[in-house]
Amino acid sequence: MNLDIRGNYILSFLLSVFVAILAADLYLEYALGEWLEAQLVTELRRHAVSGRALIESQAPPLTHEGMDPIANLLGQEPLRFTIIAADGVVLGDSRVNGEQLRGMENHATRPEVLMALQEGWGRSKHDSVSLSKIMLYVAVPFHQPQGSGVVRVAMGIESVQFVQNKLRFFIIVASFISMLAALSLSGLSAQWATRTQRYVIACAQGMASSIHAPRIELHANDALAGLASSLNLLAEEKNETLAQLSAQKSQMVTVLQSMSEGVLALDGQHIITLMNRSVQELLHLPASAIGQTVVSVLPGTAISSLGLEPGRLLEHTFSAEFDLDKGAPRRIMAVVTSLHDQPGHVIVLRDVTEKRRLDQIRRDFVANVSHELRTPVSVLQANAQTLLEGALEDKKYSRVLVEAMDRNAGRLGRIISELLDLSRLEAEQFAMELHEFPLLVVVGEVVELVRRAAQEKQMVVQVQVDPDLVVHADVEVLRRILTNFLDNAIKYTPNQSQITVRTNRYQERLRLEVVDNGPGIAPQHWDRLFERFYRVDSGRSRKVGGTGLGLAIVKHLAENMGEKVGMEGVEPQGSLFWVSLSLAKRRG
Ligand code: ADP
Repeated sequence: MNLDIRGNYILSFLLSVFVAILAADLYLEYALGEWLEAQLVTELRRHAVSGRALIESQAPPLTHEGMDPIANLLGQEPLRFTIIAADGVVLGDSRVNGEQLRGMENHATRPEVLMALQEGWGRSKHDSVSLSKIMLYVAVPFHQPQGSGVVRVAMGIESVQFVQNKLRFFIIVASFISMLAALSLSGLSAQWATRTQRYVIACAQGMASSIHAPRIELHANDALAGLASSLNLLAEEKNETLAQLSAQKSQMVTVLQSMSEGVLALDGQHIITLMNRSVQELLHLPASAIGQTVVSVLPGTAISSLGLEPGRLLEHTFSAEFDLDKGAPRRIMAVVTSLHDQPGHVIVLRDVTEKRRLDQIRRDFVANVSHELRTPVSVLQANAQTLLEGALEDKKYSRVLVEAMDRNAGRLGRIISELLDLSRLEAEQFAMELHEFPLLVVVGEVVELVRRAAQEKQMVVQVQVDPDLVVHADVEVLRRILTNFLDNAIKYTPNQSQITVRTNRYQERLRLEVVDNGPGIAPQHWDRLFERFYRVDSGRSRKVGGTGLGLAIVKHLAENMGEKVGMEGVEPQGSLFWVSLSLAKRRG
């Protein structure tokens, strides 16, 4: 049974009261019983002595006829008189008569009879064989000329028992009342006596459940003051430890959630026990993935690459890469490490799509540079060789060879200078000078520059630019970008194509667009068009003197200026190349 401190106090109080009452009851019952019995014995003895006096004075014969009438005379209710001869024969009995009297058992061995004969009087309490109830017997000897015997007076002890029962009843009622009184008194006194303990317990419970619980305030001389100060100390230490733990935890959580790498922790059964935001974004996992098996939430490609199939044993540390097809295709690198001191693993995932793409670009670049440089260098070497071997003598042929050498040296020079431009741009060493100037002026200059090339292909470059537009940009950079767009439009579109330079305005921004109605570019090339050496048709590009670096330089130039470039297709056919420009704050 779970009782609080007050309950225990009340219970022990009640128990003590109950035991005290019980002891008092038992003692009282016993003492009263003894006292009543002693009174009764005195009374019975007085009657016995009177009976003896009568017998000794009248001296009737020691026969049934002589003694029974005397017994009947003396034995008025509730008394029972028995006259017993010295040999134990019952001569008279106030309750038994006639034949029954004669058939009565010999009483020589009755304890009261034996005592009376030996000690002058005797008493005992036992069941009456003839009356079948407990009786109190007192016997005294008598002597008369015909002989001697014993006069015995008996009485049922119901009266004693009656008094005892009555007393018990009163005691029970009194006990009940005292218990009730004790209950309320003990309740009150428990309330008072345990108030400090209860206060300390309530405070301790508060301290256990909250770090803001108040301290226990007790007087120094209070019995529980020592305990209270220990509890206060304990609570302070607990609060300090909790604060440290929670600071460490939030630091860990912040670090984990701020990591760009995805972190996934698995237990020994490959159930996800922890994950950060990056892993959720990377693998499109819901927060509910925690608690689920990794097999049920990760894509099949990841499971097989990481060896997470059920039943397979993972190595201590290993890494793997896999592709994700959900959403935009991505390449993920995973490093799986076993936990140190418990079964389970930590998987760190990184999106290496961009890195792999750059790796590929770098590989392509090296291959492209060597390829691009090899062709003109080979031409130079071969032609020089041919000249040295005697072609110099042939004036006409040597001119053809030297012209080819000049062309290829020029091409080599262009590639090298454009590569240098690119590397300077990438290193952001290309100094920009941003000014505000009327856009139409620069557009006019560039269109003028390419006019001849356009005319050779019977093309007209139309300009649709508002003369009032003033932009904020680097004039030289804008010239190079526009020249490149126009050069390409002329180079890669058939004769008599239409080329338009126009602007497109939205909010405070502006797009300068070069649109042609040439063959256009298939959409699969759009994304890569601005990469170095990327050409839709390499043969054609080389033929028209292209290096494949023009748009890559354009992109870097625009970005260095804080702008963007792009391309789109146009209906029904053609290409649209654009560069964004900032409008001047003050209109010219
Ligand atoms: P290139 O030196 O080869 O001209 P660019 O970087 O300037 O290099 O252009 C890349 C490729 O884009 C070109 O090789 C060409 O295939 C394609 N291209 C550029 N502009 C156009 C256009 N207006 N029409 C069709 N194709 C174009």
